Amino acid sequence: MLANFRHGVFALLAFLIFPGQVFGLDPASQQPGAVPCVIAIDPGHGGEDTGAVGPSGVAEKEVTLGVAKKLSVSLREKTGCSVVLTREDDTFVPLEERTAVANRVSADIFISIHVNAALSRTVDGIETFFLSFDATDEDARRVAAFENSFSSSVKTHQEVSGDLKEILLDMASTESHHESAALAEYVQTSLLKAVKREDRGVKQAPFTVLVGATMPAILVEVGFISNPREERRLSSSVGQTRLSDSITDGVIRFKKNNGQGKDYIGFNRPGKKE
Ligand SMILES: [Zn+2]
Repeated sequence: MLANFRHGVFALLAFLIFPGQVFGLDPASQQPGAVPCVIAIDPGHGGEDTGAVGPSGVAEKEVTLGVAKKLSVSLREKTGCSVVLTREDDTFVPLEERTAVANRVSADIFISIHVNAALSRTVDGIETFFLSFDATDEDARRVAAFENSFSSSVKTHQEVSGDLKEILLDMASTESHHESAALAEYVQTSLLKAVKREDRGVKQAPFTVLVGATMPAILVEVGFISNPREERRLSSSVGQTRLSDSITDGVIRFKKNNGQGKDYIGFNRPGKKE
């Protein structure tokens, strides 16, 4: 309920403070009384924060921006939703600000794009996360710790404050949490179908960038930049197009099936008109 309440408050504030055209919303979706759908895409890292770096020097921040830009075009074309990027160039944006952007525009979903890294150059595969106080396993905890290390206010598992723990535990029972899990499943399945890499699964972990999101929110690790073959694929235009097209397919499936629960949020929530 807390998440739903917060979503309502943020939606109201966003509506009052930011008229639709500020965010370049599609005029076609702005019929009287209609609330247009908005998708927030977060290209991980940026600026001095390079993220992981591959064997030949490709930085995670370049791959995430490339995929996010293609994804924004593909989502606009295929869903009719407006798309907001948390960064459009090589600039540093604090983790907390990325979620705040999604909340400000009352986004229906939030997708953070990242690239994995491992000590072994042979490791590959795709995994999709949604937020939880407890990590699914040690590997999930490691990924969250790496991604959180770029936060301006780094919190380890032990350091997460009582308030935050309460919010996260409260979230575990909300529709937002269930729908984040569903969105993660749809996107992970679509990616694996198109890219045919090892299925590392849908997992949960305490990612700072997902904390406070008032809509279904996921973080996708689209491959391992530490694997030389994967580094080439991730940095190629063809590879990035394949990733963005398959994430779009996952979003379309989620959008179609979202809204089954009585307290649902995201696409098709009460008050939303397509
Ligand atoms: Zn990352």
